[in-house]
Amino acid sequence: MQYAVKVNSFVKDVKIHQYPYGQIRKRGGGPGKYGQVLWQDFTTLGEAEETAKKWELRGYKKGYCRICLKQY
Ligand SMILES: [Zn+2]
Repeated sequence: MQYAVKVNSFVKDVKIHQYPYGQIRKRGGGPGKYGQVLWQDFTTLGEAEETAKKWELRGYKKGYCRICLKQY
């Protein structure tokens, strides 16, 4: 299982996603219109969480994708 953290510096939020999330990435991912979206890939949820927390400390709103991570 793989996880990804999507950082959007435009709206200042960071969301944890879980593979497969290809559809979402296609729709809302990529570098973004203004290069404001950053994807980081991780093997475990713990690693993804740690990175998301680092962004949270920088003032980003941390959240979980409701589509990929239904249990949250
Ligand atoms: Zn997702």
